[in-house]
Order: sequence, then C-alpha cells, then structure tokens
Amino acid sequence: MATKNILIVPGDGIGQEVTAVGKKVLDAIAVKFGHTFHYDEALIGHVAIEATGEALPAESLEKMRKADAVLFGAVGHPKYDNDPSAKVRPEQGLLKMRKELGLYANLRPIKLFDELLSASSIKPEILKGADILFFRELTGDIYFGEKGRKNDGDTAYDIAEYSRYEVERIGRKAFEAARTRKKKLCSVDKANVLETSRLWREVIQKLALEYPDVEVEHQFVDSTAMMLIKNPCRFDVVVTANLFGDILTDEASQIAGSMGMLASASIGDGTGVYEPIHGSAHDITGKGIANPLASILSAALLLDISFGMKEESDLVISAVDQVLKQGFRTVDIADKNTNPENILGTEAMGVAVLKFI
Ligand code: NAD
Repeated sequence: MATKNILIVPGDGIGQEVTAVGKKVLDAIAVKFGHTFHYDEALIGHVAIEATGEALPAESLEKMRKADAVLFGAVGHPKYDNDPSAKVRPEQGLLKMRKELGLYANLRPIKLFDELLSASSIKPEILKGADILFFRELTGDIYFGEKGRKNDGDTAYDIAEYSRYEVERIGRKAFEAARTRKKKLCSVDKANVLETSRLWREVIQKLALEYPDVEVEHQFVDSTAMMLIKNPCRFDVVVTANLFGDILTDEASQIAGSMGMLASASIGDGTGVYEPIHGSAHDITGKGIANPLASILSAALLLDISFGMKEESDLVISAVDQVLKQGFRTVDIADKNTNPENILGTEAMGVAVLKFI
C-alpha cells in the first residue's frame, strides 16, 4: 500500500475529456489495491495562456516538480494553428515542460490488441504480432536549436543540434530496454546526409560494444518509414532523434489502429509525464466521442514506470483488452463488423474499463 501524489494536467481540447477518464481509472486502482493517491491539477497550453498569459505558468511547473508523476492530456488550439505569428503558443508549454523536467526519453509502446486487427488500414496478416517500443529523444534536435528569419524575413532557419551526451543517455535507455525484450535494437538516422545523424550513429556504435547481447542495426529514416508499413513485425526496440521519432510514431499509430490507442511515457531526470500521443483534436472536442483508451493506457504506464506497480498496470491493460474482446469500440476504432450498440462515447468507454477493474 503506497501513498502517491499525482498531478493531473488535462491541457486543451479532448485532453480535458480523456484525462478525466484516465484519472477515474487511477482512482479505481487505488481503491482495489489499497493505495492512497492524492491529486492536484495544473494548467498548460491554451487554457493556461487564457488564464495567465503563459503557456506553462511557474505555478504549474512547480507543481510538476513536486509531484510523483504527471498524467497529461494534450495542448493546442486552432487559433494558433492558423496564426504562425502568435508569440505565445500552447506547444511552448509542452516543450518547456519537457526541457525543465529533463524529460529526454519518450517511450511509445506500439502493440496491436488482436481485436483491433481489422480496425487498422494495414492488412491484418502484416500486422499480427507487431510489438514495437519506440524511444524518441525529446529535448534536443531541430525543435530546440536556434531558429529565426533573415533577409527581411524571406529566409527561415531551424538549427538541429545534438551532443554526444544527449545521444548516449537515450541510447543507453534503449539498449537496456532491448535487453528485457527480444534483444534487437534499430537505431534510425539520416547519416548519409546529416552531421547530427553521423554523430548519432557513431555514439550508438560505440555503445553497442557495451551491449554485445543486443543485435543492433542502423536504418535510414526514409527506409524505416517504408518498413514500418511493409513489415512492422521485424522491429523490436527503435531509438531515434526528436524529429524523426515524432513523425515515425504517428505513422506507427496506424499499426495500433488509431491515434486514440497510443500511450507514451516521458522520462528522464525529473518527474515522469504520461500522455496519449494524440493532440487536442479540435475537430471532435466537446462531442463526447474521443477515445479515452490512450489516456487509460498512459495511466497504466504511469503505474508501472513511476510507481513500480506492475500488477496494477497489467490489470489496467487487461481491462482494456477485455473491453475490446467484448466488442466495445469508440467511433475511431469501430469498423463495419461493429454492432452499432457497442459504439461508446468517451465516458461510457471509461465506465466499461472500470467495470473490468
Ligand atoms: P490530433 O492528434 O489532435 O488529431 C489527429 C486526428 O486524429 C484528428 O482527426 C482527431 O479527431 C483524431 N484523434 C486524435 N485523438 C483521438 C482520440 N483520442 N479519439 C478519436 N480520434 C482522435 O492532431 P492534429 O489534428 O494534427 O492537431 C490538433 C492540435 O493538437 C494542434 O493544435 C496541434 O498542435 C496539437 N497537438 C498536440 C500534441 C500534444 O499535446 N502532445 C500532439 C499533436 C498535436
């Protein structure tokens, strides 16, 4: 029986809707296993800008630092997507949170629940058995380098930068994880063109000497994008830079059937942050149809990684599995075989998962 402080940071759009369900699942786990979870809430993104003028107010950051773990939703608002000149933007809150908490490793497990084989746009025979763990570097690369305009604003630049230290620390996490799985690591770069990628490859090759039991391959990002769709089962652990990881994991979300199914963990020096990989999805905000399973699976990652509660985490994952086995779907993962009566909204899907817990 443990006592933990969990900070709920719903953010914007459907972040509010799905995180509320993720929290209920944590509550149910606390009751079932006799733990005490204390909750607090903090602002980030558009809602924080509206309330304070800042995308990540100092008070939110302070609460994050003090918490044992953060369950996060999403940030973003169409107002900013269509206004590239806005100086304060919701995504700045996300990037600042990652930088300030030293969250350099983003883990994205991509595993298809068997019941969703037909929900993916990829053929079931290609998908069956796919089980990939992505390690995306999160605090370096082109996202954090110098950026600006020159020639009276007609030319723009973003500098990509990586240090040996940054590559080594994410590389180590990926090698360690590969050791606990099929002992296969694929390092993804663009070393034929980019200097940052040549350093990346050099560091991973050197690290590989320390992990002789792990089989390492180096793949270019373009061919990896192709192989993920052609033969996803060939991958076990994949490690890559911030930009490549951002794009490849969205592509890989189709292996899991929908963006609404994928959870992620951001870990590093400080408090771990657990979040769905999807954004604030304003096209469906307020309709009550967002799939909460990614948030629920993020809560499962939180229990396992930050609290070491493997049994509790496994129970959440198996409850999701049971709900899918019973035929329940949210609209994004429903297909022509789904009984329309089994298509649930956000809250009802949460209730279905809670019943199995
Ligand atoms: P998105 O992930 O919000 O949505 C992409 C598509 O997937 C949409 O059609 C959406 O309806 C659908 N979708 C996403 N999550 C779903 C869920 N749980 N259930 C059902 N359907 C779901 O990406 P976008 O449309 O490119 O971006 C919208 C906003 O989110 C933008 O402002 C963007 O900057 C922001 N964003 C934030 C994050 C984050 O906070 N981590 C990540 C990506 C995008």
